[in-house]
Amino acid sequence: MSVASVPITVAEGDGIGPEIMRAVLRILDAAGAKIAPETIEIGERVYLRGQSSGIEASAWESLRRTKVFLKGPITTPQGGGYKSLNVTVRKTLGLYANVRPCVSYHPYVDCVHPKVDLVIVRENEEDTYAGIEHRQSDEVYQCLKLVSRPGCEKICRYAFEYARVNGRKKVTCMTKDNIMKITDGLFHRVFDDVAKEYPEIAANHMIIDIGAAKMATRPADFDVIVTLNLYGDILSDIAAEVTGSVGLGGSANIGSQCAMFEAVHGSAPDISGKGIANPSGLLLGAIMMLVHIGQGEVATRIHNAWLRTIEEGLHTGDIFSPKVSKEKLGTEAFAKAVLDRLGKQPEKLAPVAYAGGAPVAVEGRLTPTHPAKKERVGVDVFLHWRGAPDTLGALLEELNGDGLKLTMISNRGLKVWPNGHPETFCTDHWRCRYESIKPGALVSVMQVMSLIMRMSNAGLDPVKTEHLFLFDGTPAYSLGQGQ
Ligand code: NAD
Repeated sequence: MSVASVPITVAEGDGIGPEIMRAVLRILDAAGAKIAPETIEIGERVYLRGQSSGIEASAWESLRRTKVFLKGPITTPQGGGYKSLNVTVRKTLGLYANVRPCVSYHPYVDCVHPKVDLVIVRENEEDTYAGIEHRQSDEVYQCLKLVSRPGCEKICRYAFEYARVNGRKKVTCMTKDNIMKITDGLFHRVFDDVAKEYPEIAANHMIIDIGAAKMATRPADFDVIVTLNLYGDILSDIAAEVTGSVGLGGSANIGSQCAMFEAVHGSAPDISGKGIANPSGLLLGAIMMLVHIGQGEVATRIHNAWLRTIEEGLHTGDIFSPKVSKEKLGTEAFAKAVLDRLGKQPEKLAPVAYAGGAPVAVEGRLTPTHPAKKERVGVDVFLHWRGAPDTLGALLEELNGDGLKLTMISNRGLKVWPNGHPETFCTDHWRCRYESIKPGALVSVMQVMSLIMRMSNAGLDPVKTEHLFLFDGTPAYSLGQGQ
């Protein structure tokens, strides 16, 4: 039975993009991929036409319709005003999971660690990458770290589903929840909850600092890793570096409706137009795309032909080494070598076998959010102020009243009033915690607003408030360090 071709959106990108995209589409075609590519323009030329996002409004129409995007690398012009196209596409299309396999191809490709085969599943939409930043005083700047329960559950569930579908044995979660007990703590808790539903897959947690160190020294101990956005970004580069696969890495950005596939590397302007670029990163991205659209059999044929090409020592210049390589090939000749080997298995490297079924999906499986009993019990008012903590404490105690009293002042998180230490370095940014005078009494928005008015009338400069809540009776705010 003939299968209808799946429409996909293709952007060649900049620099070496057109060369490697041509090579990849040629291999996909020869392998019998049932795809119908539609081409859109993105990147440098679009930026330079004055479109600061690097993508035209018309291109979104194709992306929304096909929901599958094979993207070449792009050049982000230097200088101000240009937004990262990757971030724009990821966030606009809700691509919450960044999936990056990192494999060492020892002894055929130079690498620090010979036996690595891991996958990093990085949360892609939340964390400090929401990019919500403010300067609040002469000295202090802030970046908000936003983490949601559905966001954590989607990525943790995706990691376990990915492990199940791909025959992986272990999922390791990495967070810094010994310090960020509320945000990273949520990620860790959700991970533990989701893990219980996958008893056949081992699950463990590591603090990100020791986890990253182990990744650099013992990467073969890892299988699937799931983590928050910033940690995942850093870990992906460590993993790519230790496997020697920066130029060979493919990556997938998966959403509940759309998905984007690309190489990990950039547009390599230094070798653009020379016909020597390695198309492998984009090819491995395209292989992930084929698995995603249910063409696992074609993906398997291409991947095994590629492994065979690599182990036969047919290499592009970037991975060529006289010790192990047999022949140095240009982009087109390398693509031809791969398609000549379609149908063959690697003999030394382990062959792959992708299931041909539906893509990994977590939709419809998320725990519904039940509104909790939420009670306001105080407020942290942040002040831009210069002076000594005890002076500020005395000033603010004057403003106690209307059911609220000052209970703590901290500076960059450390409690400095009451009973601070003279050695502590303080900036001009103070968190002033007010709670009910009467224990257990709730605090209204009006009380908070009138406190802000009293502060303003006293010549103080409130720059931000954070309300203190109990959720179902549990405090949902951190204590001051040393409190
Ligand atoms: P790069 O990955 O383009 O190049 C780094 C080095 O690796 C260069 O020496 C290059 O020649 C080599 N290289 C990269 N890909 C190769 C390939 N397929 N075959 C052979 N050699 C290869 O990184 P860069 O130089 O830092 O960035 C260049 C441009 O790419 C910048 O504008 C950057 O913003 C952009 N970039 C885009 C993406 C993306 O679109 N996803 C990712 C990273 C960088």
